[in-house]
Amino acid sequence: MALIVQKFGGTSVANIERIRNVAIKVKKELDLGNKVAVVVSAMSGVTNQLVGYVNELSPLETSAAWAEYDQVVSSGEQVTSGLLALALQEMGIPARSFSGWQIPLETDSAYGKARIANIGPDDVHKTLNSGMVAVVAGFQGIHNGRVTTLGRGGSDTSAVALAAALKADRCDIYTDVDGVYTTDPRIVEGARKLEKITYEEMLELASLGAKVLQTRSVEMAMNHRVVVQVLTSFADIPGTLLVNEENIVEQKRITGIAYSRDEARITLTEIANIPGMSAALFGPLAEANINVDMIVQNVTEDGHATDITFTVPKSDLDRALAAVDKAGAKLKFKSIHADRNVAKVSIVGVGMRSHAGIALTMFRALADKNINILVISTSEIKTSVLIAEEYTELAVRALHAAFELEKA
Ligand code: ADP
Ligand code: ASP
Ligand code: MG
Repeated sequence: MALIVQKFGGTSVANIERIRNVAIKVKKELDLGNKVAVVVSAMSGVTNQLVGYVNELSPLETSAAWAEYDQVVSSGEQVTSGLLALALQEMGIPARSFSGWQIPLETDSAYGKARIANIGPDDVHKTLNSGMVAVVAGFQGIHNGRVTTLGRGGSDTSAVALAAALKADRCDIYTDVDGVYTTDPRIVEGARKLEKITYEEMLELASLGAKVLQTRSVEMAMNHRVVVQVLTSFADIPGTLLVNEENIVEQKRITGIAYSRDEARITLTEIANIPGMSAALFGPLAEANINVDMIVQNVTEDGHATDITFTVPKSDLDRALAAVDKAGAKLKFKSIHADRNVAKVSIVGVGMRSHAGIALTMFRALADKNINILVISTSEIKTSVLIAEEYTELAVRALHAAFELEKA
């Protein structure tokens, strides 16, 4: 007998008929003799609607406001957890729902993007051992008696964390595509489903924008050695398995392509070329809790000044500009330019370690489409470029073709 955690995303629980379909999926796992804990998302579209209500009322500038944000946006999962438990009961399967606080799934106090601190698995274990299905509301936790949420897409992390806490044999993430593809199949028709992908590559793809799994869920799976599979709830076909690198027999040059439109670029010109200027610039940004991603610095010909370009999440641009303004007196830059219309496109693959010329292939493919590269950043298994946002899809398609990812 195995213990399985099944996670169902928003489209899988979008209406009552689909919730019944999920109950059938749960029953199939039970019929194999397994214990099952289920994690559910809100019905698709519901969380966006709840966030919309909150935004109409509040600019969310205080922690007290963010606490209420979490109170509101966590509610979608409460509904689906109860509905799925009811659907199971109606099929004669004993089941009960759990909210985050009932587990308890404890988090830190970062409302809106809380991190899991601890999960008490005892009550869920008792439920499973008594022959019942535990249906857990994803995305939500508790901190000092207040509801918290884990950031958008956080149900994936709820599921993997629960699987780790329960020492589950497997965590199955059911979503609206039938696995992890070479790139977003909604953008590239020829995207190919991967039978396996390494944890490391999945972590990069997720953090570079592929929202099929929340980044923290992959981190958690890696750290706690959780066996994760991504698959569809709409058909009985194999999905994608997350594996360690030694389980990949043939390494391709690159494995996948991700893109993110949540980027903004800031350029400061003619900052004095003396020690301490980068610290003076990035200090206030760090204090404001703004994640700076790509950075380039160019020294002017005479060596007296430098231009610095860096990127931040689009939603943080205004706060970033305010922080730069604060540092302005010390930096004495000549001008500042901000650009919201940029996107980051990245190629990812462990094969980059052993193949040469990969970045060149990337740059040539973009040049052939007349796409200008604004910033480049690289690490061991990825290369990212910043480009004008309007060329995002063109760039992803061109790179997919250049690296022949449609071929197995
Ligand atoms: P869920 O509601 O099940 O959590 P999400 O919308 O969060 O589903 O994630 C699934 C979506 O991720 C897919 O519909 C797809 O458009 C997108 N996606 C982006 N990159 C990839 C990729 N490489 N492979 C599969 N899906 C991807
Ligand atoms: N419902 C939440 C969201 O839309 C969490 C999730 O779906 O994973 O972000
Ligand atoms: Mg998701």
